Amino acid sequence: MLSSRKRLLRLLVPTTAVATTAVVGAVLNPVLSANASTPDHGGGRARSVIFVNGDGMSAAHREAARLYLTGLDGQLTMDKLPVSGQLSTSPHDPATAITDSAAAATAWATGTKTYNGAISVDVNGKPLPILGMQAKAAGKSTGLVTTAQVTDASPAAWFSQTANRSAQDEIARQYLAVSKPDVILGGGEDWWLPAGTPGAWPDKPAEDPSEASKGTKGNLIDQAESAGYQYVSTAQELARAKRGKLLGLFGNEEMFQQRPEGQGDVYAPAVDLATMTRKALDTLSTNKKGFFLFVEEEGVDEFAHENNGARVLQAVESLEKAVQVARAYVAAHPDTLLVVTGDHDCGGLTVEDTSGSDESGSDLSTEDGPFPVHGSGLKFVMDWTTTGHTGVDVPVTAQGPLSTLFTGKHPNTYVHEVLSQVLTSRR
Ligand SMILES: [Zn+2]
Repeated sequence: MLSSRKRLLRLLVPTTAVATTAVVGAVLNPVLSANASTPDHGGGRARSVIFVNGDGMSAAHREAARLYLTGLDGQLTMDKLPVSGQLSTSPHDPATAITDSAAAATAWATGTKTYNGAISVDVNGKPLPILGMQAKAAGKSTGLVTTAQVTDASPAAWFSQTANRSAQDEIARQYLAVSKPDVILGGGEDWWLPAGTPGAWPDKPAEDPSEASKGTKGNLIDQAESAGYQYVSTAQELARAKRGKLLGLFGNEEMFQQRPEGQGDVYAPAVDLATMTRKALDTLSTNKKGFFLFVEEEGVDEFAHENNGARVLQAVESLEKAVQVARAYVAAHPDTLLVVTGDHDCGGLTVEDTSGSDESGSDLSTEDGPFPVHGSGLKFVMDWTTTGHTGVDVPVTAQGPLSTLFTGKHPNTYVHEVLSQVLTSRR
């Protein structure tokens, strides 16, 4: 055995023997030397940002999907991004230490911690400056893509300000009248149309009779078309849509049916997240001043609330395919920062052995599976500790200019600190 000092020297020798002090600095402190390294690893100038949210996705969701989709020695694309760190997610809420999606997205979009349910307003209800509008003011294009309602909390916080996340028709109104994102793709048609106007997605469909148009702000789809948006409601129409302002609504509410396993649970979005992401990038990338694109897979969270492991795996796979689209874009456009994270954990998920003798406490917890580990004879179980959110950290992975700033552990407000360096700059 080498002494620990000798081992340390051995580790240092290959570097110090060939390197100048500056390069050693780069190895030891990637943050300070960001501009000296390659664009992939944080150097260069960022013009655009693609920010990807796996709603409710923490480390366990990523690991379950890694085993299921790529196997013991495999790696998800979202985990291949060269920089990683972790984010804490607690809100500033008088009643709880555990965040919801609204407070979490407000932390990202404004840099301010607030109460659960708040859409980019502070703890006193005062509207806060939002990156979605600051990016516009800096001359960039903006867009949002989600399998949730386009007016759901996570996209909403970047592009609207309201004291209550459930005011989704007001959020839609603000998109058209105030923040004007260039691309809006996802579900949630019910909030764009008044009661009695079913639209392209019929009221009271068999898969969920509670879904029906319920907006109180007039026919916002008509208003969007008057404001110059192309409006589409099917995959075919989306494929044909020309570049320019684009509104696509592909469902009454979420683009899936979140239910427990075997009780009408469906994950089959009318347009997949990767296709929406590709179309959004196609449109937004025409702006030479850059863009901000928010991409979200909502099914991770909503099926985790239902403790439905099989559907969570499908949703993470959908997110993974969207990340592959984003990563290919970034490879060809090195002035783009790509960030993949989650807004909070959902389900208190763990990845367990299939043994039935590992339960703690007197009651059995909810387990899903066993699921096969890809390419092996092994299996794993997804074990849930709650049907709600938890306070565990979420991983964040990143690639492109400024990405090294995500190294280490930070509060979720730190996302704003990094993204504002790109999105509020007119360079
Ligand atoms: Zn949730």
